[in-house]
Amino acid sequence: MSDEPKVRVEEKLQYNRYLVDPGKPHIAVAPHETPSRNLQAMTTICPAGCYANNATGQVEVVADGCMECGTCRILLEPTGEITWTYPRGGFGVLFKFG
Ligand code: SF4
Repeated sequence: MSDEPKVRVEEKLQYNRYLVDPGKPHIAVAPHETPSRNLQAMTTICPAGCYANNATGQVEVVADGCMECGTCRILLEPTGEITWTYPRGGFGVLFKFG
């Protein structure tokens, strides 16, 4: 067993900085009635907590805080359920400690 101190993901995330590009979100969810299994899964597996269900059950994304891990892009862009681009230069996540 490692002697390294255990640090929760949420504690690590607080060191990131994120510059919002107002009005230009870099991820968008395609309109849908009922989320697919994979789209619904993003509400629990996105490490930044960007995906959530709205009041009527559809999945929405608020990309502020996205750390560009690419998980949702790999899972959902090929099926057309989301569009995903990198934020414009100077915007998005800034990793302070690698
Ligand atoms: S790229 Fe990663 S952090 Fe960003 S919204 Fe997708 S799963 Fe979340």
